[in-house]
This record gives sequence, C-alpha cells and structure tokens, in this order.
Amino acid sequence: MVTAAPVKTKYEAVIGLETHCQLSTATKIFCSCSTEFGSEPNHNVCPICMGMPGVLPVLNETVLEYAVKAGTALNCKISDYSKFDRKQYFYPDLPKNYQVSQFDLPIAEHGWLEIELIDEDGNPNRKRIGITRLHMEEDAGKLVHGGSDRLSGSTHSLADYNRAGVPLAEIVSEPDIRTGQEAAEYAQEMRRILRYLGVCDGNMQEGSMRCDVNISVRPVGQAEFGTKVEIKNMNSFNAIGRAIDYEIERQIEVIESGGTIAQETRLWEEGSQRTISMRLKEGSSDYRYFPEPDLTPIEVPPEKLAQWKSELPELPAQKRHRYEADFGLSAYDVRNLTDDRAIAEFFEATLAAGAPAKQSANWIMGDITGYLKSEKLEIGAIALTPEALTELILLIENNTISSKIAKDLLPELLTQGGSPKALVEAKGLTQISDTSALDSLIDELLLAHPTELEQYRGGKTKLQGFFVGQLMKKTGGRADPKLANQLLLKKLAG
Ligand SMILES: [Zn+2]
Repeated sequence: MVTAAPVKTKYEAVIGLETHCQLSTATKIFCSCSTEFGSEPNHNVCPICMGMPGVLPVLNETVLEYAVKAGTALNCKISDYSKFDRKQYFYPDLPKNYQVSQFDLPIAEHGWLEIELIDEDGNPNRKRIGITRLHMEEDAGKLVHGGSDRLSGSTHSLADYNRAGVPLAEIVSEPDIRTGQEAAEYAQEMRRILRYLGVCDGNMQEGSMRCDVNISVRPVGQAEFGTKVEIKNMNSFNAIGRAIDYEIERQIEVIESGGTIAQETRLWEEGSQRTISMRLKEGSSDYRYFPEPDLTPIEVPPEKLAQWKSELPELPAQKRHRYEADFGLSAYDVRNLTDDRAIAEFFEATLAAGAPAKQSANWIMGDITGYLKSEKLEIGAIALTPEALTELILLIENNTISSKIAKDLLPELLTQGGSPKALVEAKGLTQISDTSALDSLIDELLLAHPTELEQYRGGKTKLQGFFVGQLMKKTGGRADPKLANQLLLKKLAG
C-alpha cells in the first residue's frame, strides 16, 4: 500500500447533490394546464398557475404516483402523512411570490441509490449514496433577459410562465460523494432510474433534470465539514464531473495559500471550464415556511401504495447484478445493455427467443447501437424484431451463413424487417460448408494464380490472405471461413 501520502491526498471533498426533476405528467401539479415544452410563451397558463387571488389548487394525483414510485425506487420510506408548505420567495419568475413545496414532512425520506464505477481492470466498484429526501414542488417560470445591458442598452426582461406549476421532484443526497466521477455517476444512475420508471425524461439540455452541487473540502481525518460552496449551471454529466474536479482543486489551493473559503453560490462556465462566483450566501435564507392552507395533507391509501409498488419495473442496478451473474457478461457490457430500459428489454426478448447472451449482446451493442446513433433513433423505431435478430444469430451459429453475410443483411433487416431465414434463401446466401465443393473451388483458384502459388510455396506465406480474399470473392462471401481456411492451407502446402 501507499506509505508516504502525496500532497494532493491531504484533503478530501465532501459532496452532495440536489436534483430537480420535472415529472413527465401531461398537466401541471395544481391545475390542468399542459406541461408541453417549447409552447408559445405564456400559452400554458391559467389563473391557478399565474397565482391569481381566490383560486384553489388541487393536487394532480399522477404527480403523487410518480413521486411515490421514484421514492420507492430510491429505497426511501414513503411517509404515512405528508403535506405541502409555502416557501416565501419574491422573484418575478413566480407570480404568487411563494412556491408550494414540502418542508418538514416530505413524501419520501431515508433512501439510497447504488452507483457503480468500473475500474481500469474492468471490475465494478459499487457504493451506496444516501438519499436524504424526495419532495414534490412546483417549478417556477422562466425569465428571458433582453440581452446584455452594456452591449445593447436593453434593460428589460420577459417572463414566460409556461413552466410555472410544472411538477418537480427535488431529490437531495447525503454528502456521501467524494469525487467528480462519483457525482456524475450518481446523476446518471438517478436519470436511469427515473427513465426506467417513466416519470421524468431526464433531458438536461431542456432543463427537465437539473443538478446543483454542494461541495467542501477538509483534511483527511477531520470529522467536521469545511465551508460549503454551491455550484449551479451544469447541463451535462460530464460538466458535473469537471466542475467538481475544478472546484476541489480551487478550494484546496485557497486553503493551502492561507485563504478562507467563502460560503457562496458559483456558476460553472462551460466556455472557460471554471467556476465563477455568482453571489455570497449570508447565513441560511429565511423562507418562512408555513403549511399550505389550500391543499389537504397527503395520506397515501395503503392499497394505492401497494399498487404503485407492484408497478415498478426491474431497476437498472437489479438488471446489472442479474446480467453479470447469469450471463457472464463484463461489467462494461452490462452497463451498456442496461443503460436504456428499451434496449435491455430488447436484449431480454432475444434471450427468450433462444439467442446466446454474448452474441446477442455483441450485435445489440455493436452494429445495432451504431445504427441507432447514426440515425438518431430509439430501438423501438427499428423494423428488426428481437425474434428476427435471434434467427439471424442462430443462422450464424448453425453455419448456415457467415457473420460477414449476416452483417451485410443487417441494414435491410433494420429498415425493412422480415425474416433473416427467408432473406437468406431468397438471395441464395447460404454458406458453402461442403468440403468437396470448397475443394474444387480452391483447385480452380490455385490454377488461376500459378505465380502467387509458386511464391507462396517459395516461402512468401503472407500470400495466404490473398488466396482467402480470392476465395471469398469467388463465393460472394459464402465460403465457411474456418473450413475454407483449413482446406486452403492444406492445398497451398501441396
Ligand atoms: Zn394553470
């Protein structure tokens, strides 16, 4: 083990994430306005989400269902009794001047999620990150600032309230994270879980998943935390990792040079790859929470709770463990296969149809994923069914076609669908694995290339590749490669 600690390991970072996830309900949390992204500004609004006096909000039950499902999937305890509170906050993006949120009695608490980091040797390292709480709240509207004052002289901002009242789940982690990589993986695993559940699309570019990071550093061995800095404005997992790594270095440098860390909010600047100060935090804000008088407390009926729990799919971590144990696939393969639920289910359907796991995994992660990426498609949009992929794999396995022919057929199967077996028959692509047929083809070949044959026999054995190529050309790629090679070597030797 390491005996003398290098300077950099004198400190450790303590990191927690607050993740705001827009729940993908069709309507807002307390009214029936649409949640559609990208509508005309102030198109999806009504007196309730515009905060008019005298209106009565009503909780959208699908929001509760999604929050309970997310909480359950994050191993949280679902509260028997929960309520909404008003968080006082005066800012033009929320016309009510308070946000309906949950304060002391959130819907879900005390959970965890498992992250998996794959080390250089390809082994998975697993770690549980605690989940402090998950609560429901309404999103605020969006301010569109009219350009820079200095450049354009513009002094106005525009308010779009389409987003006001869109349901959010805010998920707060325990400060269990230590590196940028762990934080990025935590956020990715969170998104996988929410997508598997179908409760949030996790689109960071459109802001439907937003992560704020709290980070401090302390000397290794010190129990109390250092001064906490908040970082905002990261809109990719990669940016989360890089922002944290930058901030750890920055804080260590400040401390090492005798300075003190200011308690502040910093923004990640993608262009310059650094964090910059946005505002200082003086103590904790006084939001003067009080119970929301217009909404009744939430008691989830036991039969609803049981039903929602029973509707949870197998989750990404469960799938990873099962795939590794049952199929002997590498941690890396397993992660790729389970990242997207639809792809995992496609894979499982090929197994159910009789495909060997490793071959199926290779086709899905190789050619099929390549096609999906280049065409920007989801796996549900291809014409190839899991049963047809299985048929294709089995045609290779039983030596009816070579894998080269299978690869050639794939584009047509992806776009047109149909049966690989029928296609092979219609096109006459069956593999030639008959010894006497191959023998006579090789004889013809050697006769046609006497010079190369002489050179080969004179010691230029590299020419084997030339003959293999000629044979494949002659047979339209249909020669059984293994058998053809054996026979060819024998004949070349004379
Ligand atoms: Zn509304």
